Amino acid sequence: MKRTYHLWTIGCQMNEADSRHLGSQLESLGYQEVHSAEDADLVVLNTCVVRQQAEDKAVGRLGGLKSVKAERPDMTIGLMGCMVGMREAPRLKERFPFVDVLMPPSDTGPLLDYLADRGLVDESRAVETRSKAVRDAIQDEEHILPALRRGVAVTANVPVVLGCSHACTFCVIPYRRGAERSVPHDKVLAEVRSLVDQGVREVMLLGQIVDRYGTDLESNHNLAGLLRGVAAVDGLHRVRFLTSHPNWMTDELLDTVAEVDAICPHIEVPVQAGNNEVLARMRRGYTREDYYALVDNIRQRIPGVAINSDIIVGFPGETEDQFEDTVRLVEDLHLDKLHIAKYSERPKTIASRRFPDDVPDDAKEERRKRLDDLQTEYLTATNRRYQGRTVEILVEERQRGRWRGRTPDNRLVFFSSEEDHRGCLVDVMTEWTGPYSLLGSLIRIHSSPQGAAFTPVP
Ligand code: SAH
Repeated sequence: MKRTYHLWTIGCQMNEADSRHLGSQLESLGYQEVHSAEDADLVVLNTCVVRQQAEDKAVGRLGGLKSVKAERPDMTIGLMGCMVGMREAPRLKERFPFVDVLMPPSDTGPLLDYLADRGLVDESRAVETRSKAVRDAIQDEEHILPALRRGVAVTANVPVVLGCSHACTFCVIPYRRGAERSVPHDKVLAEVRSLVDQGVREVMLLGQIVDRYGTDLESNHNLAGLLRGVAAVDGLHRVRFLTSHPNWMTDELLDTVAEVDAICPHIEVPVQAGNNEVLARMRRGYTREDYYALVDNIRQRIPGVAINSDIIVGFPGETEDQFEDTVRLVEDLHLDKLHIAKYSERPKTIASRRFPDDVPDDAKEERRKRLDDLQTEYLTATNRRYQGRTVEILVEERQRGRWRGRTPDNRLVFFSSEEDHRGCLVDVMTEWTGPYSLLGSLIRIHSSPQGAAFTPVP
C-alpha cells in the first residue's frame, strides 16, 4: 500500500508553489495525496505569518493535529513556511514538541532527509535516497504535478525570485524567507515546460519584488527577457507576474507586456499608502507623486491594462488626515482590484521596534471598510463597461454548474456549457456584470487541448 500525505496550505501564491513542489517530491518518493489529515501518514502544514490572523490559523490547525498524533504516534507531522522562517525552528520545537520536522520556506530538504533516514519512502527509492546528493537532486526535480492536480490544473504559480532584501518596516517576509535570490533562467523555463506538458496553460511568475529578477544573476537576464522566454513556450497560452514594486518597473518591462500577446495586461503593484509621511515610515522608497506618475506611465504603455494594488490601513501613527490621502489616491487613480489589510504588528520588524501599534482596531476597521466600499463602487462601474462586449477567457474549472475563467486583465467570468472546456481559450459575450465577476455566453472556442483551433459554436 502506498504511503499517504496531506498538505494544508495557507498564505500567498509562493506558499502554493512551495506546496506543489513538495507534493511533487513526495509523489516521486511513492506518496499519494489524500484529502484529510486524519487519513494521512504524513501531514504538512505550510504556514503564513504576514498577519497575526494567518499565524493564529496555523496554530489552531497545529492544536488539532496534536490529538491526532497522540492517537497515531507513527504519523509524521511537518511544519513548513514562514512560521518556521530561517531561524524560528528551535523555538517552535519547544512549543510544539509533537512536530517531527521543520522546514523553512521553499526548502523541503529537512523533510526529505527525515523520510529517507527513517526508510519512510518507497522501497524502489529507499536505496538512492540514502545519498544526500540524490535527495538534493529530488529537490531540484520539481517537475511532476501531484496526481490530484494532474490534468486538472490549468494555472500554476512559478517562483522566480525567492526571499526579499528590501525590508519595508511593516513586513516580516525578509526575516522569514531570507535574502533575495533569483531562480536561474533555464530552471524557470524547464519548470514551465514540464507544467505545460501536464496540461497547465497559464503561469504566474512570482517574487516579492518580481521586477528585480536577475539582478543577482551573472547572466544578464531580466524580467522582461524571462517573460519573453516563458511566453514562447509551446502550448502555454498566458503568463502573468507578481508582485511589482513601483521603483523597479522599467519601461522595457511595460513595453514587453504591451508587445507580447501571451503576457497579460495585468499589473500588481502595491502602493500600501497614499500619504508621503506614512510611505516614508514604511520605507517604501517612493512618494505618492511617483505612484501617480507610474500609474500614468503603465496606462499609456499598456492599453487595456488592469492595475491592482495592496493597501495597509492603520499603519502606526496614521492620522485621519493621512488616511484621507490614501482615499484621495484611490479616488483619483480608479485602480482595479485592491487588497486592503489592517496593519498587524509583526515580530522583529522595524515598525514593531520603533513605532507603537497605536491606531485602534475600530478605526482600522472603519478605514478598511471605507476603501472596500469605494473599490466595490469603482469595480461595479468599470466592469459595467464590459456589458455586451466579447471577452477572451482561459477556462480554469467548473464551479457550481458553470465554467469559470479569467480575462487577460484578470476579471472572473462564468458561462454555461455542457462540453469540457478546461484549459481552452474561449470568447464569451458578457451579459451581466457585477463588481467581482462577469457572466456571459459562449461565442467561440479558440483552441482546445486537442489542438482544434477556432471551432465555431453552433
Ligand atoms: N512584496 C510585496 C508584498 C508582500 S506581502 C510588496 O512589496 O508589496 C503581501 C501584502 O500583505 C502586502 O502588500 C501588504 O499589503 C500586506 N502586509 C504585509 N505586511 C503586513 C502587516 N504587517 N500588516 C498588514 N498587512 C501586511
